[in-house]
Amino acid sequence: MSRRVTGPEIERLVQLLARLPGLGPRSARRAALQLVKRKDQLLVPLAEALGRVGESVRVCSTCGNIDTSDPCAVCTDPRRDASTIVVVEDVSDLWALERSGAVDARYHVLGGVLSPLNGVGPDDLDIAGLVERAHDPAVREVILAVNATVDGQTTAHYVTDRLQGLDVTVSRLAHGVPVGGELDYLDEGTLAAAIRARTPF
Ligand code: ZN
Repeated sequence: MSRRVTGPEIERLVQLLARLPGLGPRSARRAALQLVKRKDQLLVPLAEALGRVGESVRVCSTCGNIDTSDPCAVCTDPRRDASTIVVVEDVSDLWALERSGAVDARYHVLGGVLSPLNGVGPDDLDIAGLVERAHDPAVREVILAVNATVDGQTTAHYVTDRLQGLDVTVSRLAHGVPVGGELDYLDEGTLAAAIRARTPF
């Protein structure tokens, strides 16, 4: 039986940190040690930032982005092109596209992809919300920026069917996005090129 080095409070901090992506138990322990060593510079400001975000974080009821206001900063930005909606699987894809600076449009986060094998059907995704937004006459184009996986492409076909009959152009990212590649892992230049060279679906 190993003896305890720290009390339950620091142990809990380590356990929570270990749940973060990219952090295993060992790096979580190192991170926790840095935090407690640098209490004033790191631990206290981090705790305050976490508390503030924890109180104010919400999901945008329009596009599904995560922000501290609803509607989110993207939806309320008047300088954005309201005629284009970029459809993504996850908030991480939205943030990746924003980093690339490729689009100046609005977004719609589906919240995943259709996956019959995993029991994910149309009602599990925010497809109805997208169709509703696409009815707005101001919307002229829907860009499907879903991943090039089988499920991603199934989802793209399904969404295209649901948008049929509306006065919108449906396009998708140009090839060059690696098969099975997740948008979040692409470099900004590749993403920007894929958006610019998009093709009609
Ligand atoms: Zn939004």
